[in-house]
Amino acid sequence: MKRVAIIGAGPAGSAAAIALRRTAGVEVVLLERKTFPRAKACGSGLSPWALDTLDDLGLGRAIRAAAYPIRAALIGAGLGAPVELRSRYQAAIYLRSDFDMLLAREAARRGADLREGVRVDALARHAGRLVGVSTSGGDLEVDAAIVCNGATSTLAPASRPGRTLNAIMGWYEGVEGISDAVELYFDPVVKPYYGWLFPESPRRVNIGICYAPTDGGPNALERFETFVATRFGRRARHATRIGRLVGHPIATTYRPAALSQHGTLVAGEAGRLVDPVTAEGIHHAMATGLIAGEMLGDVLARGLEPTAERLAPHTARVRRRLGAGLWTGQALLAVTRTPVLDWALRFASTRSMKSVLTWALARA
Ligand SMILES: Cc1cc2nc3c(=O)[nH]c(=O)nc-3n(C[C@H](O)[C@H](O)[C@H](O)COP(=O)(O)OP(=O)(O)OC[C@H]3O[C@@H](n4cnc5c(N)ncnc54)[C@H](O)[C@@H]3O)c2cc1C
Repeated sequence: MKRVAIIGAGPAGSAAAIALRRTAGVEVVLLERKTFPRAKACGSGLSPWALDTLDDLGLGRAIRAAAYPIRAALIGAGLGAPVELRSRYQAAIYLRSDFDMLLAREAARRGADLREGVRVDALARHAGRLVGVSTSGGDLEVDAAIVCNGATSTLAPASRPGRTLNAIMGWYEGVEGISDAVELYFDPVVKPYYGWLFPESPRRVNIGICYAPTDGGPNALERFETFVATRFGRRARHATRIGRLVGHPIATTYRPAALSQHGTLVAGEAGRLVDPVTAEGIHHAMATGLIAGEMLGDVLARGLEPTAERLAPHTARVRRRLGAGLWTGQALLAVTRTPVLDWALRFASTRSMKSVLTWALARA
């Protein structure tokens, strides 16, 4: 029996565990430093592609039934009035603490040994080969590992080129004008990135911003307060904030690199696999977790040692799956740096411009 440690039970880790459990003769230990349900700073937005991937995992129906359905987006830029774009695609919002618990429990139901409250401190290597993981609960001998421990991972290979964004967000009840639309605002205080309002229910929303860190200038809280006052001042007159604001980095890239070593694959945000402009990472985490689990399962099922050479195609597979989308995100980022979006939204009442914007939104 081969043993694989999956480090981190976010969407990447749980998807990897589910994929790996499809291989006979592999013991899957899913190690999570927190205990479910655990909070996660996240807009909890599930894109149409994330919902498709959940269908592949056999969870699409359950998630759709529990999630808040999204059928449109309100886009604003340059402090102008937002424009509503509707498309045939359906998205959803599902609170991350519930979502991640559901996924992890599903991995356990399919046979993964889910160990909560166990932190992995290091990967143990001998002569370049992975031999185990050191955890807060003791050492564990393993034949391979999949590193899925998110944006701040120090376990993934060091070379992870990309850009790290700052994000801060909070939850509110009683904001007026909530519909079936997510709201995205490319305002001056966050540009070329954006601030958002995502409805989690007819009464409850999450509001946040992501932006590139700069030397000097307003801090995260100042930017957030400016954003909320500018965009939601009137609508949030009678709103109450639930809990405190939370901040978290977002590790993005448009060219995934260094996702494998001897006995080790990287998936999800530990590999910076997050869209450079939208900061979408849930779909990317699940998709790459699946790729990693399937690839490792294939090598182990054939009785082969998971050498660096055998695992090397992982990076190419991830690029094939996500590369075009990540490059599109990077191209859109070039657009949001200019006044082009403000200009396009000003002419969005024309049918042709609305179609172009709806298409671009669907691509993003
Ligand atoms: C404010 C904010 C808003 C966002 N909004 C969206 C959105 O609306 N839609 C979207 O698609 N994406 C969004 N993202 C991005 C998305 O949250 C991440 O890209 C996604 O969660 C990555 O999944 P993951 O499984 O790779 O990592 P994570 O979800 O971060 O999971 C990593 C797991 O590893 C555990 N862990 C960490 N270190 C260790 C360790 N040493 N040992 C054991 N366990 C460990 C953590 O506790 C965690 O459970 C947002 C991000 C932020 C910060």
